[in-house]
Order: sequence, then C-alpha cells, then structure tokens
Amino acid sequence: MEAAQRRRLSVIASHLRPITITPTSPISRSDCNSCSDSEKQCHLEADCIFCKIIRGDAPALKLYEDDECLCFLDNNPVSPGHCLIIPRGHFPSLVATPPSVVASMCSKVPYISKAVMKATGSDSFNLLVNNGVDAGQVIFHTHIHIIPRRAQDCLWASESLKRHPLKLDQEALHLVNTIRQQLSFVEGFEDSKDHGTTLIGS
Ligand code: 5GP
Ligand code: ZN
Repeated sequence: MEAAQRRRLSVIASHLRPITITPTSPISRSDCNSCSDSEKQCHLEADCIFCKIIRGDAPALKLYEDDECLCFLDNNPVSPGHCLIIPRGHFPSLVATPPSVVASMCSKVPYISKAVMKATGSDSFNLLVNNGVDAGQVIFHTHIHIIPRRAQDCLWASESLKRHPLKLDQEALHLVNTIRQQLSFVEGFEDSKDHGTTLIGS
C-alpha cells in the first residue's frame, strides 16, 4: 500500500468514533448518574474542553495541526513551552485510544519537541501521559505532555523519586507471568505468547 494511502487510512480510522455534540442544554456530570456508560461518554464529549478547542469553540495557542492531531500550549504550564499533543478524535484516555491514533500522536513528538526546545533554549524534555484519575489525569481527552526541562529548573528529577529496588523473587516472577498472560489475551499481539518466565541470568 502506498504511503499516502496508509496515511489516509489512518486518518479515517482515527475518525471512526466521530465527536458527538448534544445541541440541547449541556448536561452536567452530576446529571449523568442515571445514564449508561455510553451515554455518559457522549455527554463528556459534548462538554470536553479539548474538543471545543478542536472545533474552535475555545481559545488555544496552537503550535501545530494536521488531519489527525493538534498541539497547543498548556494554559497552566509546568515550564515555558509546556504543550499538549491531542488527537482530533475524542478518546477519554490513552488505553482507550486506537494504536493507530497513538502512533500518529507519538510520531509528532520528535518534530514538535525539537522546535519547542530550540525556542525555549532547553535541550531536554519530559514526555508525560497521565492515564486515569489516580495518575493525575484531569482532562479526559487523551493527550501527551511535552515539558521542556532546564538545569536547576526545580522540577522533579527521575532519581529523586522514591524507588524500591526490584527483587528477583517469586513475587516478581508471578507479576511478569500475570502481565504476559494478560498480553496474550490481546488479539494480534504477536510477542505475547506465554513461554513461561525464568529469571534472566538464573
Ligand atoms: P492531565 O492531568 O489531564 O494530564 O493534564 C491536563 C492538562 O491540560 C493540564 O496541564 C492543564 O493545565 C491543561 N489544560 C486544562 N484545560 C486547558 C485549556 O482549556 N486550555 C489549555 N491550553 N490547556 C488546558
Ligand atoms: Zn474531547
């Protein structure tokens, strides 16, 4: 298949779940208690600030856009140049986003991050996804943060996070086997055949 055809196909795939706009009065989240899960999703889409930005109904300082994605400055940045890459289709989290759309978002990272780093005089950045409430997600339209970093910027350092050295014990083996088993349920995931896990080097 031609590259252009493949691109077209991925654009069509990313629009398979079109944005649903409820033209009547907006329904607040608390009104959703009696709704089914799919109805709730519909209301959240109609209410979604990032969908509003895509439609041009809410302002944003756009850095980049194409058929599949949009990138704009975060309105409450962690550092200058902090920006968000979002898909045009509404998917509430990264795990709910089709792989082709994730690929499209990720493929923009090198291009956009280089420009952001040049413009902000930084040579480092963090890529961040908050997936789910417990991970700190507050906007339920999937997005990737690009956060430019500088020396002594007083943000987090990877080594400053509390770590617990991985013990190569039965518990770790059980965890690995359980995850591999879960992966084997994912259709088309070739690399997940359960060969059983042994400790490397043991
Ligand atoms: P999350 O925690 O969901 O990963 O982060 C959502 C991000 O979206 C936050 O960094 C927040 O500052 C940003 N944000 C929320 N609402 C708006 C908005 O209306 N415009 C822009 N540009 N950014 C927003
Ligand atoms: Zn949305």
